[in-house]
Amino acid sequence: MSTLDFEIIRNENSVSAEDRAGILADPGWGQYFTDHMITIRYHKDKGWHDAKLEPYGPITLDPAAQVLHYAQELFEGLKAYRQVDGSIVMFRPYANAARMNASAQRMAMPEIPEELFVKALEVLVSTDRDWVPTTEGHSLYLRPFMIATTRQLGVNQPADEYLFTIIASPCGNYYARGIKPVTVWLSQDFTRAAPGGTGAAKTGGNYAASFAGQAQAVANGCDQVVWLDAVEHRWVEEVGSMNLMFVYGSGSQARILTPALTGTLLPGITRDSMLTLAPDLGIQAEEGKINIDEWQHGCESGELTEVFGCGTAAIISPVGAVKGTDRAWTIGDGEPGPVSMRLREELIGIQFGHRPDPYGWVHKVS
Ligand SMILES: *Cc1c(COP(=O)(O)O)cnc(C)c1O
Repeated sequence: MSTLDFEIIRNENSVSAEDRAGILADPGWGQYFTDHMITIRYHKDKGWHDAKLEPYGPITLDPAAQVLHYAQELFEGLKAYRQVDGSIVMFRPYANAARMNASAQRMAMPEIPEELFVKALEVLVSTDRDWVPTTEGHSLYLRPFMIATTRQLGVNQPADEYLFTIIASPCGNYYARGIKPVTVWLSQDFTRAAPGGTGAAKTGGNYAASFAGQAQAVANGCDQVVWLDAVEHRWVEEVGSMNLMFVYGSGSQARILTPALTGTLLPGITRDSMLTLAPDLGIQAEEGKINIDEWQHGCESGELTEVFGCGTAAIISPVGAVKGTDRAWTIGDGEPGPVSMRLREELIGIQFGHRPDPYGWVHKVS
């Protein structure tokens, strides 16, 4: 089996065209949801079954469902875009399918056939296509997730039953008021992920464990937290829920470096796209290691010119300044840099169809 047929249950109380237009005029981020959702069940004896498109609404769970106690869950995030020619595309959905299955292996959860994952996204996006914004820079954020539903308080085994769901949320331009660099906090008290842990899996527990560090960043006047390695607390891993890119030099000498995937970092699809795009723009790209002293000294010497976070939500988020308990410095002049902006333009250009897609990244939804 690679796909299933979906039972289609239409929402009889869909949002009116007028109300939808009002929402799409200012969708914000993750506050509004479309009329439908996908649900697919899994049982260890039956495999994947009972695929449905149904009205968006609450999920009923047994209070002893394994996810509620032991956080056996995972999620994904990608976007559907309306291109300049009016067609609707998703960006690299097969990459999300593969990553979801990698997360599933780590969380002892069932893998979902890639074709079924992508078909489920297509059924939802094509049904709710009127929710894909037409405003330049806006998109429809897609959130697939899987939870363990078995009623079981025993802690010694993964669940037998799971629910896979996809919901969709229209979202505005992350930087509606212009691109503003973030100030980041070097967290030395908290770590996001340890070797052998779940840092490379997109699972909710990693986020639950990150809120205290994020709150500390805010308490110190910063926007986001920089996660350092769990052993020496000095090797840079990620920022907030984004991967990090360091730009050295400028003009034709510019090159980018991103921390290598050591198992404690989340393998971002935006990160991977940047590593692929940059060399084709004449920007050398490498995966490596950078510690906080090298980061600080590189900025002070002028060798390190720009730093940005990257992920599906913001695409790129320039970092303007860094703070820690015993140090603080700015990056370049604290403004978004030309290499960051160039990479952003190229990627957004492919997503919205302003530029050709030589990589086969955009996936048309019919
Ligand atoms: C999802 C995520 C990213 C970015 O991944 P993209 O596929 O580029 O959106 C980076 N870090 C963490 C911790 C994440 O959860």
